[in-house]
Amino acid sequence: MNKENKKNDHTPMIKQYLKLKSNYPDMLLFYRMGDFYELFYEDAKKISNLLNITLTKKGYSAGKEVPMSGIPCNSVDIYLLKLMKLRESVAICEQMEEPNSGKKLLLRKVVRIVTPGTVTDDFFLQDHQDNLLASVFFKRNIIGYAILNICSGEFVISEFTCTEDLLSELQRTNPKELLYPEGFFYYDLIKHNYGLRKRSLWEFKLDTAYRQLNLQFGTNSLNGFGVEGADVALCAAGCLFQYVKNTQNSLLPHIKSIKMHNIEDNIILNSTTRKNLEIIKNISGGYKNTLCCILDRTSTSMGSRMLKRWLSSPVRDIKIVNDRQNSIQGFQKVFPVLQNVLYRISDLERISSRIALRTASPKDLISIKETFLKLPIIKKILIDIKVEHIQNLCNSIGNFLNLSSLLERAISKSPAKSIREGGVIADGYNVELDKLRLINNDAQQYLKNFEIKTRRILKIESLKIRHNKIIGYYIQISKRYSHLVPNSYKKCQTLKSCERYIIKELKDYEKNIIFAASKSIELEKKLYEEIFDVLFSHLDELQISSQALAEIDVLTNLAERSITMNYTRPKVEKKSVISLTDSRHPVIESVIKTPFVPNSVFLSEYNRMMIITGSNMGGKSTYMRQIALIVIMTWIGSYVPAKKAVIGMFDKIFIRVGSADNLSMGQSTFMMEMTEIASILHNASCNSLVLIDEIGRGTSTYDGLSLALACAEYFITSIKSITLFSTHYFELTDLEKKFKEIKNVHCGVIEYEGGVSFTHVIKDGATRNSYGLAVASLAGLPKVVTDLASIKLKELLDLSNNYDDNHFINKIKKKFFKDSSKNSILHFIDVVDPDTISPRQALAIIYYLKSIV
Ligand code: ADP
Repeated sequence: MNKENKKNDHTPMIKQYLKLKSNYPDMLLFYRMGDFYELFYEDAKKISNLLNITLTKKGYSAGKEVPMSGIPCNSVDIYLLKLMKLRESVAICEQMEEPNSGKKLLLRKVVRIVTPGTVTDDFFLQDHQDNLLASVFFKRNIIGYAILNICSGEFVISEFTCTEDLLSELQRTNPKELLYPEGFFYYDLIKHNYGLRKRSLWEFKLDTAYRQLNLQFGTNSLNGFGVEGADVALCAAGCLFQYVKNTQNSLLPHIKSIKMHNIEDNIILNSTTRKNLEIIKNISGGYKNTLCCILDRTSTSMGSRMLKRWLSSPVRDIKIVNDRQNSIQGFQKVFPVLQNVLYRISDLERISSRIALRTASPKDLISIKETFLKLPIIKKILIDIKVEHIQNLCNSIGNFLNLSSLLERAISKSPAKSIREGGVIADGYNVELDKLRLINNDAQQYLKNFEIKTRRILKIESLKIRHNKIIGYYIQISKRYSHLVPNSYKKCQTLKSCERYIIKELKDYEKNIIFAASKSIELEKKLYEEIFDVLFSHLDELQISSQALAEIDVLTNLAERSITMNYTRPKVEKKSVISLTDSRHPVIESVIKTPFVPNSVFLSEYNRMMIITGSNMGGKSTYMRQIALIVIMTWIGSYVPAKKAVIGMFDKIFIRVGSADNLSMGQSTFMMEMTEIASILHNASCNSLVLIDEIGRGTSTYDGLSLALACAEYFITSIKSITLFSTHYFELTDLEKKFKEIKNVHCGVIEYEGGVSFTHVIKDGATRNSYGLAVASLAGLPKVVTDLASIKLKELLDLSNNYDDNHFINKIKKKFFKDSSKNSILHFIDVVDPDTISPRQALAIIYYLKSIV
């Protein structure tokens, strides 16, 4: 080999590393070296950046320095957790041979893959949040979407024809990882998602998807699942399934079916609506003061996750809502006792998935055993409640007393963390194991006695018998006493102040101990697997029971909320109607210190639009949002904050509020506003609920006013949705005269000398007063400024009152118009210089032109 070749050659270790790494190009490869996992090259730089770990070098390979970062093996989970939060994936490569096997380069293999969307270990999961993996595909103008909850086995697909629906689904499901094909047409829509994983196009092949899924479900066709024809979504599902199989490197027996999510089954809430109504997250992305934060007093994590699912997808099914409402009513008397037991139930849903994947820990088994013992108590409470849905849920809870007695006998009271260490199977469960343990225990006593005996013989008090992985058992003697050590002792290691020896008697005994210890661990593993087999055969019942328990928890929780928060059972109807007597905002009423002022509302197809005027801080936004939140609460089955409520069925809820600039995405406030409005105008239907909280404020007054007028007219005449329109443009209230479906309301204010006070009472009719200056004073603007503003306001009002549009029109008429012929108008348009007239004058001209043409 010439010199040049040598320079290009990698060291054997780096060669091995690069070969392994080539299989996991988009994951961080943790390469085991002794007590550390090492990362090299780009991975080393990346992890050093992400987690602030020191970047060092591991000598040279192929003539270049090898960057390296390391992670101690014993704290690997903490690092993995941080990486999962950053949506990174990791391939963990272990040494497959003992370090003292004499080989220079140990065999290594990737034994575990940890990715944010496929983790099932409790340590990496948030108790109260679903952890989902998604995949998206686009073909023939259809977007296919597949989503898997590996912790429950729920596998759902959907198809959309518009990007708005994809965005809404992404926001609703909030996947931790999103698989997409190379060259994905709508990449721009998903690029802000964390956890993007680009996959090759061939992974989205339809025939592979069919084959894989049929194999998984043991079927010949997928028709029975109601997914026939959803080919684009199935392509996404196929890729997702293969990805999970690769990462888990195990069978996935708990994934038993796939279902189609029909978006028409739920009220569609787009991403802006979810954000602005602060259902699960508040505007800043936190949890405080959200609807969920008020409603979630569930006792189990399964329940909390189910409630979030419900809140993210309110249903459009009267039967489901009635069942839930009946159950809430049924639980109203018993919720304290029931919650007391539910509180002690473990996360059966997630533990079942770990049983399916054979990764459940001994601690998991102890906690399900305790849960099994609580189930009869729950059933006993439920059995007396004469509500059909509650009885169905009760019947779905399995009887696992045999399993609990098996676990009671088999698993020790305080088991080791993992079966690898042994000490998990209880004494008395297996005769052979007991025998092996006896040898082991005897050995400990034997070694103790041997130590005492040797100390006595050699007259060395400090002599110790110890053990390490490299030497095994040895005798440690301080150097001071070296002269007392017999010749038969074989020295094996010299340390600073002591020496270590081995002797035949000890080595012979060691063989026995090691044999017994390894045999007992092996046997424990075998017994543990057998217990899994038994649990495994109850997987279906476990999954069904966990779903029933989660639902019982949610409904009990809603029963508690209905009593504590003084909610009413709403009547549900198919047609679009909202009739609320004395309704309240579920969140604001719990946040403010003063009593909340209830308000009523009546909207139906004959009273389709409400135009709300009134000062800032008057309560317009609160009023509009409380209506939307009550609709959402109703359609998850909850009771609602009102004295009386009749709520109709809506297909979509839209909300548009004055939004902050999204300059990071290159959009100005006005552009954002118009984009949002455009999307509502395109997607709303006569069955939608639309809330418009101010429109047209981001541009000049007349642009804004004309846009607001045009939108209001379009909603009332073309879309025909139920619409609440809050506005500062008083001119909008004129529409009430033109359309009988429109009603003006305003927020009540009490004026007193030197200020105003908002009553928050919604009254009939419109108001012109905006009390801007009063609000500015309340906000703490210096008095000099507000005084000056009062003077300016008076001047402006005088000016505008004296101003006469007719006078202006007459003037330009004389100057430019000969007649109303086309030529004359064109001439006029040519000569009027847009820079020299005000918007008000422009509008006057437009109105005039309209009137003459
Ligand atoms: P607007 O949209 O008219 O500017 P908001 O709806 O934002 O007003 O209300 C301003 C504040 O007034 C709210 O944060 C809340 O504290 C209070 N408020 C609004 N409505 C009510 C009500 N019905 N009862 C009590 N306080 C209310």
